[in-house]
Amino acid sequence: MDLVHGLPKLPLGSSASATHLDKQPKDDAFCVTADLLIPGSGEPLRNGFIVVEGSKITNVGSAEDLRSQYSHLPQHNVKVLMPGMWDCHIHFIGANKVSWDGLLEGYKNEALTGARVAIDLMRLLDAGFTSVREMGGYGLQLNQAVQDGSIAGPNIYSANSIISPTGGHADLHPLPKPWYDDMCSHGSKFVTADGVAECLKAVRMQLRAGANVIKICGSGGVGSELDNPVDQEFSEEELLAMVQEATRAQRYVGAHCHGKPGIMACLKAGVKTIEHGSYLDAEAADLMKEKDAILVATRWIVETGLQSKDWFSPRGYAKLEVVAKAQWQAMQLAVRKGVKCAIGTDNTGTLAPNNPLSKLVRQGTNAKELYYHVKAGMTPLQAIEAATANGPLTLGPQAPKAGQLKQGYDADFIALDENPLNDIRVLIGPSHVTHVWKGGKCYKSPGRPVSSF
Ligand SMILES: [Zn+2]
Repeated sequence: MDLVHGLPKLPLGSSASATHLDKQPKDDAFCVTADLLIPGSGEPLRNGFIVVEGSKITNVGSAEDLRSQYSHLPQHNVKVLMPGMWDCHIHFIGANKVSWDGLLEGYKNEALTGARVAIDLMRLLDAGFTSVREMGGYGLQLNQAVQDGSIAGPNIYSANSIISPTGGHADLHPLPKPWYDDMCSHGSKFVTADGVAECLKAVRMQLRAGANVIKICGSGGVGSELDNPVDQEFSEEELLAMVQEATRAQRYVGAHCHGKPGIMACLKAGVKTIEHGSYLDAEAADLMKEKDAILVATRWIVETGLQSKDWFSPRGYAKLEVVAKAQWQAMQLAVRKGVKCAIGTDNTGTLAPNNPLSKLVRQGTNAKELYYHVKAGMTPLQAIEAATANGPLTLGPQAPKAGQLKQGYDADFIALDENPLNDIRVLIGPSHVTHVWKGGKCYKSPGRPVSSF
């Protein structure tokens, strides 16, 4: 075999990108050429070219410069190429009803949950999502099946259980507390903690389970029955203890926060991602920028909730209507002020097909969140950056090198048959996503639907 066939001669004083060509491309190497290459961070490139070896991107540039060097490799030609998207706030809980007893189903029958979520994982990959940050649910367990190839789905980075104070957002208020505690000790993905010692223990329990990020409740919620979204949950001491513990283990803390007091207290304690951020004002936005924190605004769940009155108790829907108004103002302000944003929907997916809400709620519609960010003032390119390059940033030290079409990054990318910079809505749903590669493996191509085989 001619080992050097097709390889270029290295120029004298070769550049960084040429240096790696000393190495022989692996047998599974291939190239993708694109009329338009959107790198995730930075400016798009006409007639782009990427080279993949194994699970990594090994070169990126213009087709003009690279085509001849790699002419011996298999080549795919696509219209638009961009990194696979990240949904940075998602839940895999297998509920087919949006209610507390729906939530309990996941705990009562974990096999049922796994079976239901398998289709959600395929829908996400089909719609171009190659990674998710799962903020409370069965993500850690499901990711084992994704990584060993049992099912096709995005890479899952999970918080495992949501940590709440007693009576807080992730306490299930209608249940007697002993029932709730029993559920939590038998696999339900919630935990309550009160006082510094219990907070430390709760974080350590998530680390023990292998959590990639720690999820806490920094304020009351909308779906939770008896607390107020405006009120802070956890004291300063409790917040600090949890953040310090997570930091020692090189994890970021993400906090569910609607009200301003919770947002401010969490940021001061070192929380790195603010989920929802409904009452973020100019002062809070400035503090986010100062702390280099990331907003995951989850407009998807707000808009979907507004269209789904049946989900909520009358009290819950009234809360949602108030929060929805504030959240839309906050999101526009955050975009205007240049707060760093990542895309997250709060989508829980998995409603039985005969549920009238199943088309609205299903996983795969997650890129509506990009559309809401464009409506809130982002350019389509900024929204794509929020959904790609910014995704891994929400994991801090646990982040994979992913979310960009860049040398040395994970080969997670998608192709489209329309330009999302002209209309961001082409990213919504699977219909314009022609190809999906994850870790260098092609999971979807024209005429070949998503499959793990
Ligand atoms: Zn959530």
